[in-house]
Amino acid sequence: MPVSAAASAREILTRLHDVMAARTTAQMKLNSVVAIIGEAIHSEVCSIYLLREGVLELYATRGLDQGAVHVTKLALGEGLVGTIAQRVEVLNLDEAASHPDFAYKPETGEDRFHSFAGVPIIRRERAVGVLAVQHTDRRRYADVEIEALQTVAMVLSELIANAGLIDATGGGTDRPQSTAAMRIPGQKLVDGMGAGYAVFHQPRIHIEHTVAEDIDAERHRVYAAFDKMREGIDRMTREAEFGVGGEHEEVLATYKMFAYDEGWARRINEAIDSGLTAEAAIERVQQRTRQRMRQIDDPLLADRMHDLEDLSNRLIRIVSGQMGTAAQVGLRQDTILIARNLGPAELLEYDRRRLKGVVLEEGSLTAHVTIVARAMGVPVLGRVRDVRRLIAEGDLLLLDVSDGTVFARPNSGIEESFEARLALRQKRKAAFAALRDVPPVTKDGHRLTLMVNAGLRDDVAALDVTGADGIGLFRTEFQFLVSATLPQRERQQRLYREVLDVAGDRPVIFRTVDIGGDKALPYLHKTDAEEENPAMGWRALRLGLERDGLMKVQARALLEAASGRTLNVMFPMVSEPWEFDEARALFEDQRAWMNRRGRQMPIEIRYGAMLEVPALAEQLDILLPRIQFLSIGTNDLTQFLFAADRANPKLAERYDWLSPSILRFLARVVGPTRAAGVDLAVCGEMGGRPLEAMALIGLGIDRLSITPAAVGPIKAMVRSLDRSAVTSFMTGLLADPPRDMRGALTDWALQNGVELT
Ligand code: PEP
Ligand code: MG
Repeated sequence: MPVSAAASAREILTRLHDVMAARTTAQMKLNSVVAIIGEAIHSEVCSIYLLREGVLELYATRGLDQGAVHVTKLALGEGLVGTIAQRVEVLNLDEAASHPDFAYKPETGEDRFHSFAGVPIIRRERAVGVLAVQHTDRRRYADVEIEALQTVAMVLSELIANAGLIDATGGGTDRPQSTAAMRIPGQKLVDGMGAGYAVFHQPRIHIEHTVAEDIDAERHRVYAAFDKMREGIDRMTREAEFGVGGEHEEVLATYKMFAYDEGWARRINEAIDSGLTAEAAIERVQQRTRQRMRQIDDPLLADRMHDLEDLSNRLIRIVSGQMGTAAQVGLRQDTILIARNLGPAELLEYDRRRLKGVVLEEGSLTAHVTIVARAMGVPVLGRVRDVRRLIAEGDLLLLDVSDGTVFARPNSGIEESFEARLALRQKRKAAFAALRDVPPVTKDGHRLTLMVNAGLRDDVAALDVTGADGIGLFRTEFQFLVSATLPQRERQQRLYREVLDVAGDRPVIFRTVDIGGDKALPYLHKTDAEEENPAMGWRALRLGLERDGLMKVQARALLEAASGRTLNVMFPMVSEPWEFDEARALFEDQRAWMNRRGRQMPIEIRYGAMLEVPALAEQLDILLPRIQFLSIGTNDLTQFLFAADRANPKLAERYDWLSPSILRFLARVVGPTRAAGVDLAVCGEMGGRPLEAMALIGLGIDRLSITPAAVGPIKAMVRSLDRSAVTSFMTGLLADPPRDMRGALTDWALQNGVELT
């Protein structure tokens, strides 16, 4: 008996290497494999079952009756072999017949054998076959033998894939329902429906070769990959730009712990010693870990498992040089993108015409990736637990965000009902589109102003599609996010001019760049110091005033683009009035400079500020005389009021826009702003939700800048609303807030015929 798993597997792999390379048929190769394995581990029987058309078929055997080959077939879950494939689990039994799942197959002549061990042959986390050994003695196989079988099963997976023997219907899996239709719930981030095929943002890696030619070379490859991976993780820790939101520390600490885990590195080395390539060794260790973890039912451990999976994938990616995301590889038509999380820039790399939806394991309502997706018109379902495990690349998916679900591998019944809902949705959309030229006037005759948020060149088309009154927030940083390098003045100017051209008489409010937070630019190194909390860090105007070169360039681009027209400029993240003054002064200096050179100027510049840092509200009386308009950014405002990171999925449902704190805060801003004759708008995501918008109107806010898709529903709501009635209702509600504000507002809306969908 061989002394170690590595030696045992290596002996087999060395012999298998020649079999793999031989120019013979797949069947002959499998016949050789069972002979080699049976001999090497002194087992009387060695058999290979492959999944064909959803059934496990005996493909090759040494020891069982040859007449059973291609005759013996087991369904998934049937008998020991079917159980192994279905559960993707190892069985090691000294008396096979006493196992409850044992199914006797007389044609095999297996009644002579008592002990039985089987391991799944895995491809992309699914079982595509089973490798089994049997013996007449009653004995359990030793761990080293099982290890050797599992290693061989990896090689077999390569062999059968290369020979085209992989079953097109997929395999039994670690999740029993995986080939069946499955409804997976998540959180609604960007409403919409879409059908398409699953594409992983970070594609699964295809391991081309499993058997090493040169073990030393493989060892060196894995050492180098470890170095590179650890370097990358150290860099992330230093720059604190990894991931989004306040989980940095925890995530990085775990990553670092795993990345430097000597036990992990040692196990990979042992797998290489057994004759596997570096990629196959990493995958082999990962399979083993997956298997162990599956036996432990602990959500915390499951989270850690994701980290380890990520790290393992990262290592394989480095070692195999398959580094790109799906965006670089090129998308198929009708893609539903699957990712743990995405940055806004990462999402913008995708061709929006091919993207039918995004499904994230994390994500939150006001994270910038969500806002970008909304701008792109791509539905997003977030917080879908385990999605990367439950869905396989290429699975057909039906995404219905309004229902909070994604259907994987739907059957025709599900498809039909999806189509029906889609048709209904289109109908509703058409009804909203019909409101395009209808003004947003309340039942009691108040004309509100409905504008759209935009940021990409193509978004501007939404003005005509929706019939909006203008662009209330143009997020200029989106151009920076989609560019590989800092956009030069001419490029900025061109974009702004194009936007103004399309808008014509309708106003456009350009917000100066809001870089930082979760909108990190890879080419702009913000600071040497780590930012533990970038959303509250050196971002937006704070960065702009200090890096004034950047802001001056933008000021000139805007002034040039708006020559002969009105320019509306808005500054983000103003915390104190002097910041506004400085920003305005910077623009005025540029105006004077250009004036001296005889350049044509805007006929008027209107300056405004965003109210998103609560501190500013305390100095509103000082700010108001200096500005022409104020726009409340409820996305940031809420996160700061509640001290709840907007990008942190754990806090996504923690606060409510309809909480008395927010509504009372807003109510306090409305009075003085109106009295000062300053235009007041809300441009956060809150304004795009009918119930929330109703509450805002009740507070006296009559300008909303919202996502284009929300214009129809909000207009419909406005037209069904009596403004004075909601105002008096809100006054009472805020004086004595009920515990369930949302419930109270919903009830009132229903009783008063307000259209909320
Ligand atoms: C906001 O904070 O509400 C806002 C509109 O700005 P952004 O979402 O771009 O930070
Ligand atoms: Mg903001």
